[in-house]
Amino acid sequence: MIPLQAEVTRETFWQIGPTGKAVFYYLAAVAIIILLVGVVRRVNSYRAASEDPFERVGSVSARLRKGVTDMVSNRTLFSGDTFAGLWHIFVFWGFLTLLIATTILGIDLDLWRPLTGESFFVGDFYLSYSFVVDAMGLLFVIGIGIAIYRRHGLSMERLWGAHSGNEDVLFLWTLFVLGVGGYAVEALRILGQGFPSFETVSFVGWGLASAFSLVGISEGMATAAYPVVWWSHALLAFGFVAWVPYGKPFHMLASAANLMTSDEKAGVRLPGVPADASPEEIGPSEVEDFSWKQTLDQDACTKCGRCSSACPANASGRPLDPRKVILDIKEYREGRSEHDGDVPIIADGGTSVIDASTMESCMSCMACMEACPVDIEHLTHFTDMNRRLTESGQMDENVQEAMMNVFREGNTFGDSARTRPEWTEDLDFEVPDAREQAVEYLWYVGDYPSYDGRNKEVAKALARVFHEADVDYGILYEDEQTDGNDVRRVGEEGLYEQLVEENSETIGDCEFDTIVCTDPHSFNTFKNEYPEFEACDWSEGDVAHYTQVVEQLVETGQLRVPGALDYTVTYHDPCHLGRFNGEYEAPRKLVQETGCDLHEMPRNRDNSYCCGGGGGGLWLDHEEEEKPSEERLREALEDTQAGSAVEKFVVACPMCMTMYEDGRKTGGYEDDIEVVGTTELLAEALTAS
Ligand code: SF4
Ligand code: SF4
Repeated sequence: MIPLQAEVTRETFWQIGPTGKAVFYYLAAVAIIILLVGVVRRVNSYRAASEDPFERVGSVSARLRKGVTDMVSNRTLFSGDTFAGLWHIFVFWGFLTLLIATTILGIDLDLWRPLTGESFFVGDFYLSYSFVVDAMGLLFVIGIGIAIYRRHGLSMERLWGAHSGNEDVLFLWTLFVLGVGGYAVEALRILGQGFPSFETVSFVGWGLASAFSLVGISEGMATAAYPVVWWSHALLAFGFVAWVPYGKPFHMLASAANLMTSDEKAGVRLPGVPADASPEEIGPSEVEDFSWKQTLDQDACTKCGRCSSACPANASGRPLDPRKVILDIKEYREGRSEHDGDVPIIADGGTSVIDASTMESCMSCMACMEACPVDIEHLTHFTDMNRRLTESGQMDENVQEAMMNVFREGNTFGDSARTRPEWTEDLDFEVPDAREQAVEYLWYVGDYPSYDGRNKEVAKALARVFHEADVDYGILYEDEQTDGNDVRRVGEEGLYEQLVEENSETIGDCEFDTIVCTDPHSFNTFKNEYPEFEACDWSEGDVAHYTQVVEQLVETGQLRVPGALDYTVTYHDPCHLGRFNGEYEAPRKLVQETGCDLHEMPRNRDNSYCCGGGGGGLWLDHEEEEKPSEERLREALEDTQAGSAVEKFVVACPMCMTMYEDGRKTGGYEDDIEVVGTTELLAEALTAS
C-alpha cells in the first residue's frame, strides 16, 4: 500500500553532498550562459540579414496559435509519414514533459523552499509527478528508439542524404543516452534506498532497479555507483544544453520560430523587387543578401530529406536536391563549406556555392514545400537565385529565347501576336470579343491553348462547352499576352512587371465579373500575384479556373452533361491548380459527370507529381534518367487500381498536356494511353448524347 503522507518524497541531491551541489549549480549556470550566448549570436545573424519582403511578425496571436498547434499536434510531421509523426510526437511530448518537470523541481528547490521553508515536492504531488515523468520519459525513449531504428536499422535513404552524418547520429544517441541515463539514475536510487514501497509509481525505474537486483547488484553497490552515474547524466545534460544553439539541436528552436513566421502564400505569390533596386541588388550576390527569414529557414532545416524525396527534379536525375541547396547555403554562411567566402552564391561554371544548373532544374512545383514539416520556403530562395542569374546575364539560352519571344510578340512561342486568335476560326460559331461587349466571364485563353496545335483542341472544346451552356463570355483576341507566371519564376522580374502593367490595362478596359483561365499557371498569377500591383484593379476572388466555372454551370443546371462516356481514366492534379490553389474536386466532379470510370493516381491531390513543365521546364532541355512525364504515365498504367486498363490520362492544364504528349512518345506509351483535357471529355460527352 502506498503511504500518502506528506513526507513521501525523495532526496534531490542524494549522495552528492554540498560541494557537489555547488559544482552542479555552477556547471548549470555555465551551460545556460553558453546556450544564451549562442542564441543571441543566432538572433544577431538574423538581424544582420536583409529585410524580408513580407510581413512575418504581425497578427501575433494568430501566428502563435498556428505555430503552437503545429508543434503540439506534430501535424506537419504525420503528413506523408505516419511513423515519423509518431516517433516525433513521442519525443516532443516526452522532452517537453521532462523539461517542465525539471523546471518544477528547480522552482521547489530554489524558490519555494527558500521563501516558505516548505517543499511542495511531497506526498500526492510527488507521487503524481513521479508517475507522469516516468510514463512520458518512456515515450521519449521509445520515440528516440524508433528514430534510431529508422536511421540505422532500416537505413532510410533520405536520412542519409546530403549534409547528414555524424552530427545527426550524435544528436539522436545523446538524447537516447539522456533518456536511458535518467532511468538508470532513478533505478540505482530506488535500489540503493532499499526499494521504498511508494516508489512503485516510478514504474520504469522500479522495474529497472528490480532487474539490477536480479543480476546481482546489491544495495551497497547501487549506492556507491549512484554518484558516478548521476554526474555522468548531469554532465551529458549540461553538454547538450550548451550544444543547442551551435548545431543540430538548434532546429528545435528555429523550426518553432519558422512555423510561426511562415507566409501562408509562400511560393504561390512571390516577393517583388524594390522599385529602386539596381541590377546588382537583385538576387543574392552575397550570403547576407538572403533575408532574415531565409536565414532562419536554413537554420530550421532538420535534414529530414522529405523535400528531396518529393522532388521530381531530384528523382529524374537533374542536378537538384532541395535539401542540399538550403544546407549548402547555410554551410557557406557558417564558414564551413569548401568555398572560401569570396565566391558568388549562384553562377554558371561550378565555382559558386550553388550552380546555375541546379536552379534551372527546378519546376517550381512546390512539392518540396508541401513536404517540409517546418515550413521552409524553398521557392523564395530559388526565385531570388534565378533573379541573380538573370541580372548577371547567365540565364539558360532556351529560356532567354522564350523571354525574347514574350518581349517581342507577347507569347513564348515567338509567333505573331496577330495569329493568337486563329484557333477560333475552326469553330462554327463566333467567340465573343470581351473588348467590345460587357461579359460575365472574361476568358483568358493563354499561350498554349492559343498557339500550340494540340492545346488549340482544348481551347476549342472549352469554347464549345461555353457555347452549349450559353455562357456570357468573351476573349481578348490579339490583345491577350503571356500571363507571366513562369516568366516570374525563371527570374525575369522586369519583364513580369511589364506584363502585369500591360495585361492589367487590357483587362481593366473590359467589363466583366470574373476572369476565367484555361491554364492553372495564369490562374495562379492572376489570382495571387497581380492583385498586389497597383496597376491591377481586380481582387483574388475575381479569378477562377475553368474547371471551377464549368463545375458551377453543372451544379446550377446551366450545363447538362450526359454521362455518356464509359472510358476508364485517371486524373493528374496540376501543381498550380492543386497544391498552389487547393482545387482538387472541381475537375474530378467534371470527369465523373461524363460517365467515365475515374481511378486515382497513387500520388494525387497535394501529393501530386509535377509533369516537368513548370518553372520554365517547358523551355529547357534536360538530360534525365527518366522524364517526370514518363514516370507519371508509368504510374498511371502500373500503379493505379485499374492498371493497364486505364485508357485516358486526364489533365486540366495546357502545360501538362504538352509534357504528357511528349512523355507518351519518348516513353513509348503511344499505344497504351491517351492524354485528354477535361474539356475535351466534356465536349465529347455533350456530342455523344
Ligand atoms: S519546386 Fe519542385 S522541382 Fe523545385 S525543388 Fe521543389 S520539389 Fe524540386
Ligand atoms: S528543407 Fe524541410 S523537408 Fe527538406 S530536409 Fe530540411 S526540414 Fe526536411
